[in-house]
Amino acid sequence: MNLKDTIRTIPDFPKKGIMFRDITTLMTNPKGFTEAVKQLAAPYKNTQIDNVVGIEARGFIFGAALAVELGAGFVPVRKKGKLPFDTYEQDYDLEYGTDTLELHADAVRGQERILLIDDLIATGGTAEAAVKLLRKAGGNVIAAAFVIDLPDLGGRQRIEAMGVPVTTLVEFDGH
Ligand code: AMP
Repeated sequence: MNLKDTIRTIPDFPKKGIMFRDITTLMTNPKGFTEAVKQLAAPYKNTQIDNVVGIEARGFIFGAALAVELGAGFVPVRKKGKLPFDTYEQDYDLEYGTDTLELHADAVRGQERILLIDDLIATGGTAEAAVKLLRKAGGNVIAAAFVIDLPDLGGRQRIEAMGVPVTTLVEFDGH
């Protein structure tokens, strides 16, 4: 099946000029969701992955399923103020202003092998902040996986420049 055909594009959401790649249509397609999780897991089937780390919020959906598929644990990286225990924080730049990601201080305990996941990589700013956050906590990020890559925005290169290999399933041109 062609996963790309199951992803809906909404022009000018959440603001003019953005082509929003909507994965809810992939998720409600049972074959599409299963296929996406299988394809995300495939490169890591013969690699030890201890924890899958998902980025709020759409990274939770694929990350939880991927963790089960790989027999790994799941760790959430959340927006500031949502996690109840002690946290590490990492700021990152948005188009206007900054935002902060948080990770529970005891979520990474040592040299676990971590696979980072989100639905989409655009500029790579969010994933870069998540890698920095995991490294602050002592984590060993062995790879990052995304359902969608927007290659024109250079996110993959940004993450690979940090020494983290990237795998993606489908690409869309432009923003
Ligand atoms: P970035 O930090 O620029 O790589 O942006 C990635 C984050 O923003 C991911 O969590 C995506 O879910 C979201 N995002 C960025 N661009 C889009 C887009 N065109 N369609 C859907 N989500 C997007």
